[in-house]
Amino acid sequence: MAKMPTICIVDVTNRDGVQTSRLGLAKLEKTMINIYLNEMGIHQSEFGFPYTYHEMNYIRANLALAECGELRPIILSGWCPMRENEIALAFTTGIRHVNLSLSTSGQMTRGKFGGRVVRCPEEDASKPNLLDMMRTGVGRARELGAVMIGVNAEDASRTDREFLLRFAGAAKEAGADRFRYCDTLGYDDPLTIYENCRALAEEIGLPLELHCHNDLGMAVACSVAGAKGAVDGGVDAYINTAVNGMGERAGNADLVSVILAIKKSSGLEDQYALDERVDLSKAWQLAKYVSYAFGVPIPVNQVGVGDNAFAHESGIHADGALKDRRNYELYSFEELGRGEPEFIDTGRQITVGEYSGIKGFRDVYGRLAIEFHDDEEARQILELARFANVHTQKPLTNSELRFIAKYPDLARQIMTMTPPAPDG
Ligand SMILES: [Zn+2]
Repeated sequence: MAKMPTICIVDVTNRDGVQTSRLGLAKLEKTMINIYLNEMGIHQSEFGFPYTYHEMNYIRANLALAECGELRPIILSGWCPMRENEIALAFTTGIRHVNLSLSTSGQMTRGKFGGRVVRCPEEDASKPNLLDMMRTGVGRARELGAVMIGVNAEDASRTDREFLLRFAGAAKEAGADRFRYCDTLGYDDPLTIYENCRALAEEIGLPLELHCHNDLGMAVACSVAGAKGAVDGGVDAYINTAVNGMGERAGNADLVSVILAIKKSSGLEDQYALDERVDLSKAWQLAKYVSYAFGVPIPVNQVGVGDNAFAHESGIHADGALKDRRNYELYSFEELGRGEPEFIDTGRQITVGEYSGIKGFRDVYGRLAIEFHDDEEARQILELARFANVHTQKPLTNSELRFIAKYPDLARQIMTMTPPAPDG
């Protein structure tokens, strides 16, 4: 019997999450998120925009972390528009995995290109068309050394089925490894996305990525329904998630919710195979870190990681949950890595910031059981920690302090941004 296709996670917190209006992450914070995602066994992190100058040092340093084994086995992939200049720039960073994006709906083709581009040659042979633009982009990325190329159909959910299948088929012929179905506006419902993805899987046969937005509150439902369609149609599915559901406008599909939905819901549990490396017990620390890094509190009713996710108060519920937690809980807090008491210092606290001195600094590191060879090393790390504080604009976490002490050279590279010189 053929092996059943698998559902894997491609987290896009460091790409779509940072596109969230009015919010962003420092490059050090993005690096920490990659490390947490790797510890959680997540298949892939879409970790940024490799053609963007201010990302390049961060991109290179994270690829170096992959090289030395710190960021392994997670796959680090970049997002890039389907344009030759950006593709060429992206590959100067040394990336090998890339998703190339092009809008496919009539609305976006007309609205974004203003009549300069058509969808296919039959519309107007004298103008550039999406099919040729895609073929050129995929070919260029392959020439430049791409190992994995995903072709993104932006606004796929508002693209007519006939053209979407044609575009996906052309992507396969051009050598793409995956096809990303983008529900860019959150327009799909679980039934429509299931049907679209099943048709794509059966007729084209490329592994499918699901990229869903939450504008109608259905991002998680659509992601798992789309994945179901892909698997039922015979191909592997890759769900795009963001930690705590961050992302443009109403956000992307929440990472923890997607994992729980696949593992625990009535129609998927034990019937669909989630990548077995996923370790849900790391969910709690990751959600807390991302909340801190974005400066956005986790809602009390957030799936799995909210304050109230395991709180019971009404008489019947509390009594039932105490007798047997399965009466009122589908999963236990321990599975998500919760339940350890957390100590909050209510007395004297020494934090590390941009004006810290060597004594307080050594005290903080001493409590993390990190020792320095000599004063010179301590001073160098202190200097980096001061810069890191300016860089993140908040007190450094223990995980960040540990990272800086372990990889001082890469930390320096991550925090270094040099704007390109003006032309001429
Ligand atoms: Zn998006």
